[in-house]
Amino acid sequence: MKKVLKVCGLVLTMLMFFACGKEEKKAIYVGTNAEFPPFEYLEDGKMVGFDIDLINAIGKELGREVVMKDMSFDGLLPALQSKKVDLVIAGMTASEERKKSVNFTEPYYSANQVIVLQESNNDIKDFADLKDKKIGVMLGFTGDLVITEMGLPSEKYNAAYAGIMALQNGKLDAVVLDSETAVNYVKKNPGLKLAEGKGEAEDYAIAVRKEDTKLLEDVNKAITTLKSNGEFEKLLEKYFK
Ligand code: GLN
Repeated sequence: MKKVLKVCGLVLTMLMFFACGKEEKKAIYVGTNAEFPPFEYLEDGKMVGFDIDLINAIGKELGREVVMKDMSFDGLLPALQSKKVDLVIAGMTASEERKKSVNFTEPYYSANQVIVLQESNNDIKDFADLKDKKIGVMLGFTGDLVITEMGLPSEKYNAAYAGIMALQNGKLDAVVLDSETAVNYVKKNPGLKLAEGKGEAEDYAIAVRKEDTKLLEDVNKAITTLKSNGEFEKLLEKYFK
């Protein structure tokens, strides 16, 4: 009888070991909004960009498969909280407001809000010149917040390219957008330029559910490793230099 119990115990321990092992290795679901080049965008129907490479490198460090889910930007944090995804990487600014509902990893990129203009526009040099102008922002982006906090009205768009198109068509005087994405659009669309003035620096970080402290720690460790082994620098060079 003792022997049977012993064997049962052993089998149980093994089962638990495998179950836990599997738990560790299960895929991580990651939400993004693939309309924010060069961080995440679609190329021939495939999701590519700095954030996509970064999260895949993090997944490799953790030994977990990364499954990307593309959704609207304002749906990302609700999807994280309702456990449809485990992480969010979307050039997302680790803002004080968002920190109330989610945790953020160590920052991985620093950006600013900038103003995109038609090349012929010489009236707008800085944020202070935006008063009484037709301003476009992306709904729920930090640019939206900056303009709202300045007490200025704005047209809201769901994606950066839609705001840029409205600017090109003369429906707007200015679009307020994150610096790297703005530079990207200006490069690809002749006739557009950036105003000289810049907003305050904002840190991009990966969002994690408040209760997932172990995952937060693991992702932070992976970021530190990628920064110290040169992989992170390679990604910066690939996309920004
Ligand atoms: N950094 C901006 C924000 O967090 C925009 C991010 C994005 O459009 N993907 O609101």
